[in-house]
Amino acid sequence: MARQINSIFIVDEDLCYGCGACIAVCPIDVLILDDRLAVVDEEKCSHCEHCIPACPVFALSIKGVQD
Ligand code: SF4
Ligand code: SF4
Repeated sequence: MARQINSIFIVDEDLCYGCGACIAVCPIDVLILDDRLAVVDEEKCSHCEHCIPACPVFALSIKGVQD
């Protein structure tokens, strides 16, 4: 799937508590856990959105860079 142009995948660091649910569902393994925080390799993220509903605290989103 193509990445969404002019958008970036974001982890809200204030909300994420490191449960790892998003990491388990990412089909291309671009999320890692670093000191109880999910960290994305954004340039490799496909913006597929599979992980977004997996987060219990709604910490994941894809935002337009011009927002
Ligand atoms: S949007 Fe898709 S590719 Fe990007 S981190 Fe989430 S599951 Fe992985
Ligand atoms: S699912 Fe949400 S709370 Fe859990 S590690 Fe991922 S971003 Fe953080």
